[in-house]
Amino acid sequence: SLGLLVQCRPGFEADASLELQTSASAARLEGKIEARAQSGFIVLTHDKPTPHDDVRRRLDLSRLIFARQSFHVLAMLDALPERDRLTPLLKAIESFGSRFSALLLETPDTNDGKEQSGFLKRFAPLLEAALTKAALLRPDSPHLPRLHVFLVGTQCAYLGVSVASEGSSWPMGIPRLRMPKDAPSRSTLKLAEAILTLLSADEQKATLRPGLQAVDLGAAPGGWSWQLASRGLRVTALDNGPLAPSAMATGLIEHLRADGFTWRPKKPVEWMVCDMVEQPSRIAPLMAEWVATGRCRRSIFNLKLPMKRRYEEVERCRALIDQRMRTGNIKYTLRIKHLYHDREEVTCYLTRR
Ligand code: SAM
Repeated sequence: SLGLLVQCRPGFEADASLELQTSASAARLEGKIEARAQSGFIVLTHDKPTPHDDVRRRLDLSRLIFARQSFHVLAMLDALPERDRLTPLLKAIESFGSRFSALLLETPDTNDGKEQSGFLKRFAPLLEAALTKAALLRPDSPHLPRLHVFLVGTQCAYLGVSVASEGSSWPMGIPRLRMPKDAPSRSTLKLAEAILTLLSADEQKATLRPGLQAVDLGAAPGGWSWQLASRGLRVTALDNGPLAPSAMATGLIEHLRADGFTWRPKKPVEWMVCDMVEQPSRIAPLMAEWVATGRCRRSIFNLKLPMKRRYEEVERCRALIDQRMRTGNIKYTLRIKHLYHDREEVTCYLTRR
């Protein structure tokens, strides 16, 4: 492959670049990064073309925090004729000599990108039909790589591949989640996306079921509590502020006006979730303490990042959690992602192994 393309929220190019550069250096992948501010993506060009299997063995794209979606770049076309983009794209794709499990037609998540959405809607079925006709698309073979066609403006396209475990199953990493009509706040979608993104299907089934107990630190107005209650969990919701009537109407949520930093459950619970607006360096140790001492089996929490150097701040928090776990000689899993529904924050999943 020629390089790696990482899609991020516009405005997060510097964080995505620093993270990719750091990961690539650690994997001994030398290359140059291009990142235009507010463009919604960055590209790492390998110093010398490297087979994507090789790159994949050394660098796990799924671990990148600031990547909504990423793929291995196989070709870049920069003079697409506006009247017929299909022919040159198809020719380039055929030259890869591979078949694909899926087509992901993508653009940056910017205003320029959104202006292309009309074209994309018309173009997607044409490209898909052409690929199918050429016998290049095999939706029934999920082990095949996925084909990315990433359109920047009207003339430029990056073409590449990813395996399912490397990227998001949603084009551009944007989940199409419908706002449940009786949920108290839009942030319920954030926890819904976190569950779908950070947990495997098996983990979701095993840990989010009726009868299990959860604690929600900083719960008001209750979007996260509602999300857990809608899956049948019983929730203790801590906040000095009020919970919405729609949250209380679930009958599964108990509201306590208490401080999330000092309150402790009487018995261990399955889940603790936390969306308190606080310094990340205060949240991370608190989360680690809950998991390390077994107050909860697992946790999903946000780290708020209003500062400039967000990547460094997240790594500082990762180190704080690691320190606590090492002290207790505890093996753990920590997954961190800048979700589509996250603005200046990232979402983490922490559990003992
Ligand atoms: N996740 C919630 C939802 O989906 O509706 C939104 C939570 S809101 C972003 C943050 C909440 O944390 C606020 O309601 C605030 O009162 C609460 N909070 C901040 N510090 C707290 C503390 N020390 N203890 C308990 N709650 C706290």
